[in-house]
Amino acid sequence: MSVESTPPAAPSLDFIREIIAEDLASGACGGQVVTRFPPEPNGYLHLGHAKSICLNFGLAQEHAPHARCHLRFDDTNPTKEEVEYVESIQEDVRWLGFDWGTHLYYASDYFEKLYSFALQLIDKGLAYVDDQSAEEIRQGRGTLTSPGVASPYRDRSPSENRALFERMRAGEFKEGERVLRARIDMGSPNMNLRDPVLYRVLHAHHHRTGDAWCLYPMYDYAHPLSDALEGITHSLCTLEFEHHRPLYDWLIEHVDGLPSRPKQREFARLNLTYTLMSKRKLLRLVREGLVSGWNDPRMPTLSGIRRRGYPAAAVRQFCKAIGLTKYPSLTELNLLEHHVREELNRISRRVYAVLNPVRVVLTNYPEGQVEFLEIPNNPEDEGAGSRQVPLSRELFIEAEDFMQHPVPGFHRLVPGGEVRLKYAFCIICQEVITDANGAVVELRCTYDDATRRGAKPVGRPKVKGTIHWVSAAHALEVPVRLYDRLFTAEEPESAGEQEGDFTAALNPASLLEVSARIEPSIAEAAPAAHYQFERVGYFFTDPQDSRPGAPVFNRTVTLKEGFTIKPTAA
Ligand code: ATP
Ligand code: MG
Repeated sequence: MSVESTPPAAPSLDFIREIIAEDLASGACGGQVVTRFPPEPNGYLHLGHAKSICLNFGLAQEHAPHARCHLRFDDTNPTKEEVEYVESIQEDVRWLGFDWGTHLYYASDYFEKLYSFALQLIDKGLAYVDDQSAEEIRQGRGTLTSPGVASPYRDRSPSENRALFERMRAGEFKEGERVLRARIDMGSPNMNLRDPVLYRVLHAHHHRTGDAWCLYPMYDYAHPLSDALEGITHSLCTLEFEHHRPLYDWLIEHVDGLPSRPKQREFARLNLTYTLMSKRKLLRLVREGLVSGWNDPRMPTLSGIRRRGYPAAAVRQFCKAIGLTKYPSLTELNLLEHHVREELNRISRRVYAVLNPVRVVLTNYPEGQVEFLEIPNNPEDEGAGSRQVPLSRELFIEAEDFMQHPVPGFHRLVPGGEVRLKYAFCIICQEVITDANGAVVELRCTYDDATRRGAKPVGRPKVKGTIHWVSAAHALEVPVRLYDRLFTAEEPESAGEQEGDFTAALNPASLLEVSARIEPSIAEAAPAAHYQFERVGYFFTDPQDSRPGAPVFNRTVTLKEGFTIKPTAA
């Protein structure tokens, strides 16, 4: 029999990668791929930024060694920017697994050059100083259906403009008194071309340039020119900037002496259900104390999900899976959680933990006896080894694994019924002890020694349920934070009565703190370690609050099978 080999199917490329492949083939980008990730340091990075980071840094990896990705801080607005953000952004990009090497840049490094470019535009009659107020400029710009009206200052001479612009730099004017505008086309159907503002006066201290400037460039001006100065070949941004592209191209065309001619391309931003994706809105959650900080494990910030226990590899996998499109869309949070579970299933050590304990006494198990069962640390990974888990006469099981008045289909422990204790043996519930209010406080059970190692009970019905347990005397009491999604609405921003009133959709049960009973091996847990509490979910030792021998756990995500815990109020 002959085996025919079929050529492997060509991998399908997204539209950005197709454009890049064409540019490389035609020589349009000089055989190089140079991208950049350009955050404004006015907040912490979120999952949306992860999409952009994975794209830009991913392209540099794919095209190595003829490629690189720059990390550039777009620090043109000193009033909202802070060093804290600059540092957190670098930490987050590194955590995601990417490296800018020596290519760390700041738009503020180019202030002097950008200023000279502005003088160039002024001298060519392509920029002018406007004395109108912000409101007058806004009104003069017209609407989508009516053209703009030229400013009375539009026809100032280049020499007058130059003198005024130099005086703006020298600090002679107050904020709002004068701006520099591009002189393009007040009748353009594209509002961004109706003489956009390029520079404004801001008497503000800058985190890098200090008090050297009181004149700051607008993002739309600084961004394309920074790209060109750095030799960026493909400037990838989100769809909101599509209508800014003609201005981007106008600047690249009219400024002389630029070392390269970058091209802007737009892709759809990441929107996730149950998630807010805007630094400004996330800042509001932090400022109003609705979360504990930027790295609250419920936040969609990279520092938040990191602290919650999302592995960086899962975020990268997710970004790969969603791909790139040119159309706005909403992605299911479930999809991200799916990738988180896949990765955690591979890497997490298993332990036994009971979140909502009820005591079980094995009446026929000798008092004072302790045995140790050998249990694998990760059935998905033989190399993870095994551990010794103690078992004794008194145990804890999950309150949810017992029903005094069982509903049909409940296959776990019931009065008179039998269940298997995972890795141990089967037990039969002989007696239920309740308190004055009828709440179950203890289950008195017998165990069957003949049912070890999976052996079936003889002469009794088949056992359908298997539950987890911990030895009461050996269990450690450990704080566990059960995190759930921060919002109850799929689209929190349209949940309130007023558009943008996302606080109306806050989930009151997004954090539930319990004291869990966990097998003693957990005492060795290092901070920032992943665990699967068997049958319960994936948990992560909080990197900030855990101490040696005293871990604090964050629930990263539940198991897919959805074992729900409803802890009774303490
Ligand atoms: P935010 O609205 O949260 O403040 P931003 O776009 O203003 O975000 P920047 O710091 O300007 O934040 O963003 C840096 C880069 O990240 C930009 O290139 C931007 O296009 C990209 N980015 C921001 N949000 C998303 C998102 N949700 N999906 C994909 N890329 C994004
Ligand atoms: Mg922005």
